[in-house]
Amino acid sequence: MAKKTYVCPQCHVQVRDLKSHQARMHAEIKPVSEAKPESLKAKKLELDIKPKVKKAEVVQAYHCVGCGYSPISKGQSNCPQCRAAFDWSQL
Ligand SMILES: [Zn+2]
Ligand SMILES: [Zn+2]
Repeated sequence: MAKKTYVCPQCHVQVRDLKSHQARMHAEIKPVSEAKPESLKAKKLELDIKPKVKKAEVVQAYHCVGCGYSPISKGQSNCPQCRAAFDWSQL
């Protein structure tokens, strides 16, 4: 009596046990439908990264309360314009 045989759809060989044949011979073939498009993501890179520029530290500037002369540097004893004496002890 004739044994039932199968024809492997991948290599077209007649086999008696198609499942074990495929497992043995074609185990590495994976279903194509599982492939996912990976190209859509990972495309957006961070662009335009600017180094943080430190603003020049604001130099504390003083001005003469008498005449408005500016700048007066801290510790200066007299206004160069109106000769007013400054008292830095309160700062
Ligand atoms: Zn095969
Ligand atoms: Zn002044």
